[in-house]
Order: sequence, then C-alpha cells, then structure tokens
Amino acid sequence: MNEFIPPAKPLIGDEERAAVDRVLRSGMLAQGPEVKAFEEEFSAHFNLGRACVAVNSGTSGQHLGLLSSGVKAGDEVIVPSFTFAATCNSVALTGAKPVFADIDADDFCISPAAIEAAITDKTVGIMPVHLYGHPAKMDQIMALADKHDLQVYEDAAQAHGASLGGTPVGAFGTFAMFSLYPTKNMTSGEGGMVSIADAEIERLMRLYRNQGMEKQYHNEVVGFNTRMTDIHAAIGREQLKKVDAWTKARQDNAAFLSANLEGVTTPPVAEGAVHVYHQYTVRVPEDRDGLAAALKEQFNVGSGMFYPVPNHQLKPFAGGTNDADLPETMKAAAECLSLPVHPSLSQADLERIVEGVNTLAKAGA
Ligand SMILES: *Cc1c(COP(=O)(O)O)cnc(C)c1O
Repeated sequence: MNEFIPPAKPLIGDEERAAVDRVLRSGMLAQGPEVKAFEEEFSAHFNLGRACVAVNSGTSGQHLGLLSSGVKAGDEVIVPSFTFAATCNSVALTGAKPVFADIDADDFCISPAAIEAAITDKTVGIMPVHLYGHPAKMDQIMALADKHDLQVYEDAAQAHGASLGGTPVGAFGTFAMFSLYPTKNMTSGEGGMVSIADAEIERLMRLYRNQGMEKQYHNEVVGFNTRMTDIHAAIGREQLKKVDAWTKARQDNAAFLSANLEGVTTPPVAEGAVHVYHQYTVRVPEDRDGLAAALKEQFNVGSGMFYPVPNHQLKPFAGGTNDADLPETMKAAAECLSLPVHPSLSQADLERIVEGVNTLAKAGA
C-alpha cells in the first residue's frame, strides 16, 4: 500500500530548531525581544501597514481584539455560521451575541446581502472569515460597514498572504486575527497575530494581553495573561522566511488539482482575489462521506470536512437560527470536502489524489 497522504502537515526545519535553541540558551523564555521582532516582521512581510500584536492563540487574539474594540454585553456581531467555532466563541466571550448570516455559494464566505439583512440597532460589527484562504467580499463588506457605521473584524486565521484587489487581508478591518496553529499556513506552535488599525485599540490589546498593565503594577483594566513566549516567536520568525514559497506550492498544487479533477466542483477564485489555499475544498454533490471514506480506504488519501456542523447548530449557539434561514451554509456543510494541498505533496501524491477522486466520483455518479 502507498504511504498515507495526510490532509495537513506542519513543516519544521533545522532553522526553527536552532532558533528555539537560541532562545533556550538565552535564559529569557517569556515574552521579550523575539516577540517584538516577530510582530514587526509579520506586519512588514504581509504589507499590512499597521501594528501587530502577538498572543498565545488565534482565539485569544480575536477575543482581545473584540474587547479592545469596545464590543460588550448586549451588542450583536454578525458572523458566518459556516466557520470554526472560535469565530463565534470569541464574540460570545465578550458577552455580545453572534448573529448568523448565510454564506455565498461561490466563495464559501459570508454573504454581503445576508449581512445587510441581519443588521439591527444592536449590531456593532461584522466578522467575516477568509475561509480556506480565500478573501471574503471585503469591498462590499467595507462599503456596508461604512453605510451602517459598523466595525469590521477580520478572521484571517486561514489566510496569511491572501488579498483582494491588491489589498492584503488583515489591512481592511478595525483588527484582523491570523492563527499560528500548527496546521495553518505558517505556525509558531500555538499562537496568534493581530493587526490593528488604531493606536488606542492597539494599546488596549497590549494591556489585556498582560494583566491590564503597560507599566508594571499600574494596572489600568482587568486583563488576561495571553502573552506569546519568545520560544514560540522564534519559531514564527523562521516560518515567516518560508511562508511565501509554501503559499506558491499550495497554489501550484491547487492549479494541478483544478485542472485534473472530475466529478466534483473545484473551488472558484473571485476576480482580483489571491487565494492561499489553506484548504482546497471541493463540493461533492452526492455522498460526500462515502467518498471521503473510500478515498482513505482504497487510495490511502486523507481529507477533511470543514465544517460538517455549522455553528448555529452547536449546543452553545443553538435555538436562535433556523436551518432554513441559512440554505447555502447547510448545503456547504453537507457537500464540502477538503483534499490535501499542503506544500509537501509530491507529484505522485497529487496524481494519486486525482486518480482516487476521479475513480470514486465516477463510480458514484
Ligand atoms: C484556527 C482558526 C481559529 C482559531 O485559531 P487558534 O489559533 O486555533 O486559536 C479561528 N477561526 C478560524 C476560521 C480558524 O480556522
């Protein structure tokens, strides 16, 4: 049997190992000069043109970003239901209510029309997710936010380096969060990076990260300890040097898959969009689960479903929104299948993925 092709594979090299060793030998392990350098290098690398603040996870970055932006109990934030639960958890943890809007069929991202329909007098912001590494319709979303005087919080957890109309994701909203979890396009072990448009929001973010202190023992707000360590920052700084080549490999792998797959709907890319393929997600109109199981059993190819249960059906968020109100979300949850696209795939791996999908999709048709 061929070797298993995993759906994701973090790449850690000698450079990351040496960087960690350098920090360990320095004896300074917690947040320090490596974190500061990583924040500056991250902002410059992705041309964000704004300050970045590093934290211990993407989720805490999102949570602290919302708190720093003034989101509080009683507010409403419009989110897609078709996303990872962290998007909605971070809203709920502020005491605000996540209000679910449907996605568009073409890009799996939140629909501007559905956002507009969900706005109430309690709405303070919109949290689009650049799902799978494809930018959400930020031109329309920013125009809506402007029209209704709302903030925009970007969930860019999966979209390092993606852009729309030449503007990088992370440079549109009040703040944006990038995850650095091991399966994401680059990693620091665990971690998150938040880009922030406004200096006062940035200051609050740094306070919340560090127990509410800018000056030691002069606490200004009730804060957390969500600092990134220098060990993690050192890993992230090395990954930053490699991420562009990995993105190119993801895009090349996606191009090969899209040119050769049959019997499934390949992921479209919007005009003016740069897709960084955190996931390469096809739609399987009939028996997606059967195809995924057979792909593993007969071809030893792993795959993923992101996300089979939409957030409005999850226990903490259930009860408020009907399935019938989110038809594209329900359809995507039943049809989506993410195939391996990560940079360490070989040509033989890509050919096996194509052979597997084409054989099984034809047999099922
Ligand atoms: C991974 C992810 C998060 C959370 O990031 P963590 O670093 O795992 O906390 C949030 N939103 C989306 C869409 C994600 O994929």
